[in-house]
Amino acid sequence: NLSDRITESLKGLRGHGRLSEADVDKTIREIRRALLDADVAVSVVRTFTAAVRERALGEEVSKALNPAQQVVKIVNDELVQVLGGEARDLNWSKNPPTVIMLAGLQGAGKTTLAGKLAQWMKSEGHTPLLIAADLQRPNAVNQLQIVGERAGVPVFAPEPGNGVGDPVLVAMNGVSTAQFQQHDVVIVDTAGRLGIDEEMMQQARDIRDAVGPHETLFVVDAMIGQDAARVAEAFRDGVGFTGVVLSKLDGDARGGAALSITGVTERPILFASTGESLDDFERFHPDRMAGRILDMGDVMTLIEQAEKAFDQKEAEKTAAKLASGEDFTLDDFLNQMQQLKNMGSIKKMLGMLPNMGQYREALDNFDESEIGRIEAIIRSMTPEERNDPKIINGSRRNRIARGSGTTVQQINQLLERFKQAQQMMRTMGRGMSGGGGGMPGM
Ligand code: GDP
Ligand code: MG
Repeated sequence: NLSDRITESLKGLRGHGRLSEADVDKTIREIRRALLDADVAVSVVRTFTAAVRERALGEEVSKALNPAQQVVKIVNDELVQVLGGEARDLNWSKNPPTVIMLAGLQGAGKTTLAGKLAQWMKSEGHTPLLIAADLQRPNAVNQLQIVGERAGVPVFAPEPGNGVGDPVLVAMNGVSTAQFQQHDVVIVDTAGRLGIDEEMMQQARDIRDAVGPHETLFVVDAMIGQDAARVAEAFRDGVGFTGVVLSKLDGDARGGAALSITGVTERPILFASTGESLDDFERFHPDRMAGRILDMGDVMTLIEQAEKAFDQKEAEKTAAKLASGEDFTLDDFLNQMQQLKNMGSIKKMLGMLPNMGQYREALDNFDESEIGRIEAIIRSMTPEERNDPKIINGSRRNRIARGSGTTVQQINQLLERFKQAQQMMRTMGRGMSGGGGGMPGM
């Protein structure tokens, strides 16, 4: 997978200063190959790798991440950006009904999506009407009716036995029916062809011009591979669309299509269709897709959390202090506890961050809920007490316990624990000043 390939190409590098041009180019070649393997359009691969290269060369290597993690992070950030950044909502019209038109090749999953969208909207309190404007295939109308029934949503369809209907007329009548019956949204299912076809485009354009959709969704099979960019461009130029729906994401598509389409058309992907059942439908999350392309799930998010939480400046300050022989105080201790708290679920991160193995045991024994109490206790101490805990005698302990809503026993435990951390810090002191951070105090 891509993240392994990046890691492999940067193996043996240490996090010092900037990455060299040669190192970056080596990993860029790997990224380019991986993206091409994943069927990402060549033009998109080119812009993408150029952006990654520039950032990788320009950025200081973060000390919280090793060079490979750093490049993975850059790739992840860029992927998220090309994939559309934040997931966006549907464009709802102020004057109902909101008209949503579906376009795409035959078999892309439009009719299935119509049912999914309708079911989801209904569950959100909307009153959708499905419009059967695909009169190309004999049973297309029937298919939409079945889907509508499953979703519990009415379907507007041409009268049966009326010969071949006019899809533009059906679409228009559907919208006025929706207006009349006070549906707040309509979903217009349209016909597709197996290939890009001028007649199909013309029909889609005619429907578009007749109903003036607020949202035209281009539905595309994620398994389409190398064709994705070409088909997306054809629909963009032929019909125009405001958003994309990726279907069949339950297959083993690796996200190449997603990247090609957003890269080429700069239209956001709004939804993902992930199976044949009406429930297999979700909002599209660019960050999750980026993770899928990198094939590393949530790890990036965790790395980011760690990076944010583990304030490098604080760590360096502590390290410098220790190296200079100054002692580790309760304030430092509190500081570290707070950094740990920022990390959210520490245990979830265990094992996901490669550099934390050595602290695993300490973290395993660490109870996050204790941090609040530790904070309260240390905050109830005077600055003198924090600097020199030896002066905390019995009466001071009583006062601190009262002030922090804890017991003297808990104060004793904390001081004991602090003493251990202090000893550990003394021994770690020299090692830490060499960088590499880690998690002092644990
Ligand atoms: P249309 O021609 O664009 O209307 O496509 P359909 O909605 O008729 O879908 C074509 C085929 O793909 C049908 O057999 C669907 O059941 C199937 N299909 C649609 N969406 C998905 C999906 O997200 N995952 C899977 N596995 N199959 C899908
Ligand atoms: Mg269909």
